[in-house]
Amino acid sequence: MDHVSRTPSLATRLTQLERTPAGGHGFVNPPVHRGSTVLQPDVAARDAANERRLEPGAMSYGTQGGPTQHALERIVADIEGGVACTVVGTGLAAISVPLMAFLRAGDHLLMADSVYGPARRLAAEVLPGFGVETSFYDPCTTPEALAPLFRPNTRVLYLESPGSYGFEMQDVPALAALARARGAVSMIDNTWGLANFQPFEKGCDVSIQALTKYLGGHSDVLLGSVTVADMAHHRTIRAMYGALGHYAAPDDCWLAIRGARTLALRLKQQEAAALEVARWLQGRPQVARVLHPALPGDPGHAIWKRDFSGACSLFGVVFQPRYTREDAVRFVDGLKLFGIGASWGGYESLALPMAGTRSVSPRLPEAAVRLHVGLEDVADLLADLDQGLARLG
Ligand SMILES: *Cc1c(COP(=O)(O)O)cnc(C)c1O
Repeated sequence: MDHVSRTPSLATRLTQLERTPAGGHGFVNPPVHRGSTVLQPDVAARDAANERRLEPGAMSYGTQGGPTQHALERIVADIEGGVACTVVGTGLAAISVPLMAFLRAGDHLLMADSVYGPARRLAAEVLPGFGVETSFYDPCTTPEALAPLFRPNTRVLYLESPGSYGFEMQDVPALAALARARGAVSMIDNTWGLANFQPFEKGCDVSIQALTKYLGGHSDVLLGSVTVADMAHHRTIRAMYGALGHYAAPDDCWLAIRGARTLALRLKQQEAAALEVARWLQGRPQVARVLHPALPGDPGHAIWKRDFSGACSLFGVVFQPRYTREDAVRFVDGLKLFGIGASWGGYESLALPMAGTRSVSPRLPEAAVRLHVGLEDVADLLADLDQGLARLG
């Protein structure tokens, strides 16, 4: 048989990347490198290292990261198909750093109405003080409808697909192409898409991940990443990262590298489990709609099918109109296997009443919840949801 050359798939790459580093005595995993000072052989070498401070893998002082941070950066860049990545301490920092890197006083930001709440707060409450104005736009907009919102000073188009809480799908390739034609940088929060959405193939310039979610995977680490497909963009981001003193701790990066080894397996399992739960919920009399773009019939399904290679395990459930927000709260409070708390992407299932603001697109339903499906047995989760729905009446 002929040997066919093929690019290894994600599951294979995640077992191979950044393994057995030189000088590691053959141990499979890279060690944790902690440090502030990095010694140089002479002053000329130190100056040369300083000159390289905006380049990938720079290591002239601890704040630039060291071998552990850079190993994680290469893994994330590989997952997303980027050329360079910067890891920072939280997913929220992965939002604030590129926004501050690309925006200046007098600039205009276009932000999807469906973004993660703290991103909205940053744009609405902090950036105006720095002279940056934001317009929110309907996430389900077409390029034709979005075009008139661009101004000569629009510098950034910010996307998130699907949207936080409402799971509205965006036509990312069309909107990113419009941004490029208008000379704006497109940024996407790709936390939900993760390995299932390739942001640079779809025309985005900057991809943001809360590594806190599935990459960490065990609800024991906070981290974020900013990945790009263009070295000039990387330098712009590294300059602001350095100026503001952002940093990701090496122990946390090591945990994320460890999480990456099982990422493909967990994602596949959680995707399938969440779809099983979502389909079951669709058949319950108390449920009006399930907000999950991978379900046929979802308003965003065609876009999801075109642009994504899979789904994660976070989705929404809207109860029938006879129920109230108090009913949704009662439902969440009565679940036994679903924890009540922020975040998602860990091994454990979670539930929260629907939250989130919309100012220019349809309001989110009140009698609704957001579910994250973890690694529990699906039959046990269904039994828990069943008793929860029964109590709703
Ligand atoms: C959780 C989350 C973030 C922020 O991540 P943190 O690490 O908690 O700061 C950003 N974007 C989305 C879509 C998220 O769900």
